[in-house]
Amino acid sequence: MKLSIIIPAKNEEENIDTIYNTVKTVFENIRYEVIFIDDGSDDKTFKVLESVYKRDKDHVKVVCFSRNFGKDAAIYAGLESAVGEYTAIIDADMEQNPSYLLKMLTFLDNNPDYDQVAMKIKERKAGSAIKRFGGKMFYKVMNVLSDTKFSNDVSDFRMFRSNVREALLSLPEKNRFSKGIFSWIGFNTKLMEYEVGTRTKGVTKFNFKASVKYALNGIVGFSVKPLRVATVLGVITSISGFIYLLYIIIKTITVGPDAPGFATIVCLILFLGGIQLLSIGILGEYLGKTFVETKNRPVYVARKKLGLDEDIL
Ligand code: UDP
Ligand code: MG
Repeated sequence: MKLSIIIPAKNEEENIDTIYNTVKTVFENIRYEVIFIDDGSDDKTFKVLESVYKRDKDHVKVVCFSRNFGKDAAIYAGLESAVGEYTAIIDADMEQNPSYLLKMLTFLDNNPDYDQVAMKIKERKAGSAIKRFGGKMFYKVMNVLSDTKFSNDVSDFRMFRSNVREALLSLPEKNRFSKGIFSWIGFNTKLMEYEVGTRTKGVTKFNFKASVKYALNGIVGFSVKPLRVATVLGVITSISGFIYLLYIIIKTITVGPDAPGFATIVCLILFLGGIQLLSIGILGEYLGKTFVETKNRPVYVARKKLGLDEDIL
């Protein structure tokens, strides 16, 4: 098998046929397999995948999750099933045109020194201005906080040799922040530019809320909500404490003190209380992450698999 193409899909019933047909046309003369992951869709995605599989069992494999586990879990499931010399990851919505896969494949064929080709967005047009700005800020913060470097314009759209696939699978974490993992494993990577296509059918699954969640996951690893509440409370208390501190200072200077020492005590209690909660919150974030990882739960649970060893139908 020359190429395994992993396609995560959540509620993409209208896009499956298009991407399948395009891949089929592009790779007419190459031995390839397409691994679709139905990531807990609540539309007819699985039905469509099933019919595609029945039509073309030689080229199609399907893993259907028991619920939505997220795109990163879907990628992991794809990696586990892939057997190709090269493995590629591509979105189901045609924003990433499958014709670029051929370019990547040709590059890897001709450049044995490179292990992977990652696609970089040429010009980011899609998405609202707020989303783009939020994305930019997230990567700025992320790059300050982390030793591993991230870019907003390079995503999972890439192709790599089996050594990279093995490296990806060898990382044991359950909370799989793919961008971080790709960056962390290293390897000789060629960046190629691509034009983002438009999603003609269906909607993006990364709305504002999903993007914020993704960002927080990326920074700390995993979210444990009650612990995060402590963090938020800490931030709010610190800010209010600080504002109150400024107010008391100005009032004390201009009007005079209410009672000797009162201002100092109130300010310190508020300010320090806030900082303490903030610190406990941050500790909690990491403790929570460890807690989730030690449970050692699988990255995903499959409800059905088609064309794979454990054919459950
Ligand atoms: N996706 C997925 N699970 C999710 C969210 C998204 O498998 O929980 C898939 C989705 O079907 C698509 C790809 O990941 O094939 C990229 O998602 P989307 O187009 O919604 O993101 P955007 O391109 O807007 O960042
Ligand atoms: Mg998309």
